[in-house]
Amino acid sequence: MKGNIILTGDRPTGRLHIGHYVGSLKERVRMQNEGGYDAFYVMIADAQALTDNAENPEKIRNSVTEVLLDYLAVGLDPERVTFFVQSGVTALPELTAYYMNFVPYSRVVRNPTVKSEIATKDFGRSVPIGFINYPISQAADITAFKANLIPVGEDQEPMLEQTREIVRAFNRIYKKNVLVECEAVLPKNKASLRLPGTDGNEKMSKSIGNCIYLADDAATIKKKVNSIVTFPREINAPGILENNVLFIYLDAFCDDESFVKFYPEFENLDELKKAYTAGGIGDGRIKQFLNDVINDVLTPIRERREALAGDVDKLMDILSKGTKKANEVANATLAEVKDAMGINYFK
Ligand code: ATP
Ligand code: MG
Repeated sequence: MKGNIILTGDRPTGRLHIGHYVGSLKERVRMQNEGGYDAFYVMIADAQALTDNAENPEKIRNSVTEVLLDYLAVGLDPERVTFFVQSGVTALPELTAYYMNFVPYSRVVRNPTVKSEIATKDFGRSVPIGFINYPISQAADITAFKANLIPVGEDQEPMLEQTREIVRAFNRIYKKNVLVECEAVLPKNKASLRLPGTDGNEKMSKSIGNCIYLADDAATIKKKVNSIVTFPREINAPGILENNVLFIYLDAFCDDESFVKFYPEFENLDELKKAYTAGGIGDGRIKQFLNDVINDVLTPIRERREALAGDVDKLMDILSKGTKKANEVANATLAEVKDAMGINYFK
């Protein structure tokens, strides 16, 4: 890991959910604990969140500490990770402005994630330019820190491709290797790449509201798990695994230990799947197991979160120290970028 710089982030549009957990947070904790990297940054992307929430600034403001609490609750450690707020790093919009010149308009509107996000949001015909532009600002976020490893969910691949294109264009035009190419670190587990929502939507997402949040209490989790719609069938009829949200969640969350604890009739998920497709196991029993498994993962996270939530001063201190450090690093990169571009007149 030596020589690696890790950066990732989340939009403070609400609390973090189990899709974030399996898609990115778990990988971050693993990478943090393996150690050996040169720097590890986690950004709370408030400026990006405002691109589709301009009329809802309170939501963004209130979610900043909620997201930080989620980070600390899953085990990210401010001694090893620099947490910062995007809007506090002034070099980022400046880099964005220069990078915009490397990206054709047609390229931005072709971005598949942007396209599908526009389709799920209520913009009508008034898509803000800031929103269309956010993949470019994401390139600024990543390159400002010379990050090469980005632990994210699958929906972020098109953003990283856009970032690499900007890096290549910049380094080619200015004949300097100032900017660094990045790659995604995706979860190995297929179900975790893009966890579906409890409503069956292909993605669990804060903006859609089909989420099980890391902070949800046991009763809420139970209600949400029970609300997952399954294929109607006779109690003893064979179950279908394809597009079955219960089993996608089990794929993402359970391990052999879960069976010892909560379903000792089976040894592992493969066995349970076989029995389920053979018939005789109702979805009620699967929901009960899933509820036990999710609760087992979330209970310690929820407890740590509750213990930390009261100390707002400490949370703000973590963010302000991290943002100060992030500014120093990003300013240094901005100076290099401006040198390479020859717009350093008063040096
Ligand atoms: P919003 O609806 O505001 O965009 P979101 O739920 O999509 O919120 P983001 O803050 O955009 O969350 O994403 C943060 C990180 O979590 C990204 O790396 C993203 O890939 C990952 N992620 C988000 N949702 C999922 C999911 N359902 N499955 C796996 N990873 C996810
Ligand atoms: Mg998103």
